[in-house]
Amino acid sequence: MLTDATPEFVTKLAMQLGAGAMRMVEPRDLEEPRGVFTGKAAAVFRPLTVGEVSTILATCNAARVGVVPLSGGTGLAGGQTLQDGAMPVILSLERMTTIIDISPENNSMTVQAGAILADVQTAAQNAGRLFPLSLASEGSCRIGGNLATNAGGVNVLRYGNMRDLCLGLEYVLADGTIVNTLKMLRKDNTGYDLRHLMIGSEGTLGVITSAILRLLPLPNFYETAMLAVPSPKAALALLTLLSDQLGGVISAFELIHRNGLDFLTEAGLPFTEPFSEPSEWMVLLDCADGMTIRDKVENALMAAMEAGLVSDAVLAQNEAQRQALWQIRETIPEANKRVGSVSSHDISVPVAQVPAFIEAAKQRIDPMFRINCFGHLGDGNLHYNIFPPKGKLRDEFIDLRPEISRSIYDLVADFGGSFSAEHGIGRLKVDDLKRYSDAGKLATMRAIKNALDPGGILNPGAILA
Ligand SMILES: Cc1cc2nc3c(=O)[nH]c(=O)nc-3n(C[C@H](O)[C@H](O)[C@H](O)COP(=O)(O)OP(=O)(O)OC[C@H]3O[C@@H](n4cnc5c(N)ncnc54)[C@H](O)[C@@H]3O)c2cc1C
Repeated sequence: MLTDATPEFVTKLAMQLGAGAMRMVEPRDLEEPRGVFTGKAAAVFRPLTVGEVSTILATCNAARVGVVPLSGGTGLAGGQTLQDGAMPVILSLERMTTIIDISPENNSMTVQAGAILADVQTAAQNAGRLFPLSLASEGSCRIGGNLATNAGGVNVLRYGNMRDLCLGLEYVLADGTIVNTLKMLRKDNTGYDLRHLMIGSEGTLGVITSAILRLLPLPNFYETAMLAVPSPKAALALLTLLSDQLGGVISAFELIHRNGLDFLTEAGLPFTEPFSEPSEWMVLLDCADGMTIRDKVENALMAAMEAGLVSDAVLAQNEAQRQALWQIRETIPEANKRVGSVSSHDISVPVAQVPAFIEAAKQRIDPMFRINCFGHLGDGNLHYNIFPPKGKLRDEFIDLRPEISRSIYDLVADFGGSFSAEHGIGRLKVDDLKRYSDAGKLATMRAIKNALDPGGILNPGAILA
C-alpha cells in the first residue's frame, strides 16, 4: 500500500539533496503528447548524481511513496504520467545531461540518462561517428526514456532498436541500490544480462542513470528517395528487390499513405508535394554508405520500375531535398495529432504479412473512417490510425475507441503480431497486456517486479497494474 508524498515528506527529502534538486510541478511535467492522460505529483526531484538518485529512491521506498521516472516526457503510452492512487513524486533526469566520454576507437559513448537524443547524435557526429537512433521526437526525448521504452524509430531496419545500441548501463533499484554495469564490451557472458531486463522496463524496475551507447561509422554518402508504389504488396516486393541489390545500405524503408499528406494539408503543415500525380501509397527510402552509392541506387530503382513495383520516383539531388522528403515523414505524427485520431495502434506483424494485414484490417473498419496507415515497413511496424470522417471531430466517435482497438489487436494477434511494437505498455495498454500476453510470461514479469520492487514504488500502475 503506497502513501501520499506529503509536503512534510517533500521538504524532508529535499533537505537530503543538493541545492536546486527539488522544484515545484509544472504543467509540462504532468502532460503527455497525445493529451490522453494528465498526471499528478507532489514535487519534481531533479538529481545531479547517481548518489542523489539513490537517496531519493531509498527515502521514497522507506516511506512507501511512489516515484514516476521522467526523461523527455514524449512517451506515447502514458508511462510518464500517473493519475490514480497515492500522490507520487516525479524523478526527472533533466539535470543529468552530461556526455561523459566518446571513444571513436571503441565506437562507444558514455552519457548520463538525461542527455537529449539530438545532442547525443550531434556529439557522435562531431567525433566522426553515428548514433543511429532517430525519432521525430529526438529534439526533446532523453536517453533514459529511450532506453526505458526500448525506442525504435526509422533506422531499426539497419541498426536495431535501443536494446541493440546499448553496451552498458548504470541504474538504481527501488531500495536505492546502485547497479553499475557500465562496460564497453561487445562480449560479456557473465550470468543474467540484467541490462536487457532494465531496457524496456518503463521505469517499473529501476531508474536508469547512465549508459554506454554503441556508435557506428559515419556514412558520407546518403541517397534518399520518395517512391510511388502501386500497393503495400508492391512495397514489400520492392523492399526485397532493393535489399537483394543494395545489400546492407538501406537504413530506412517507410511506408506512407496518401492520407498522411492530406492530413499535412488539413493541419496547415507545410510540405512539398512529391509527385505531380498523387499516389495512394508511397515509400520513403534512405540509404547510406561510406562510399558513393548513387549508381547502385539508380540501377536498383530502374530495375524496380521495370518490374512494375515503382510508378514514379523522386531521388533527392542535395541535402535540402533530402530534408524536404524526410520532413514529410517526420511531420505526419504532428498532423495526426492536429486532425485527432479516434483510435491509434502501434502494431507489428511479421514483415511478409504486412500487405495481408493492411487488407484484412481495412475490412474491419467502417468505411466512413479515414485510415492513416504508415510506418516502418522494413520492421513490420505500422502506425495504424483511425480518423473521423472529414469535417467531423473525434469526440463524436470516441465511444467506439475500445471496440475498434479490440478489433485491430485481435487481428494483430491472429497474424502472430504485437499490439505494442515500439511505444511500450505504459498505462495505456495495461489491460491489453493482460489480454494478449502469454500467461507464463506475465507471471514471470510479476515475479521479477515483486523481487526488485516489493513495495511497488516504481512507476505504480505502469505495465503491470
Ligand atoms: C512526435 C513523436 C514521434 C515519436 N516517434 C517514435 C518512434 O518513431 N519510435 C519510438 O520508439 N518512439 C517514438 N515516440 C515515442 C517517444 O518519443 C519514445 O518512447 C521515447 O523513447 C521516450 O523518451 P522520453 O525521454 O520522452 O521518455 P519519457 O516520456 O519521459 O518516459 C517514457 C517512459 O520511460 C520511463 N523513464 C523515463 N526515464 C527513465 C529513466 N531514466 N529510467 C527508468 N525509466 C525511465 C518513464 O517513467 C516512462 O514510463 C515518438 C513520440 C513523439 C511525440
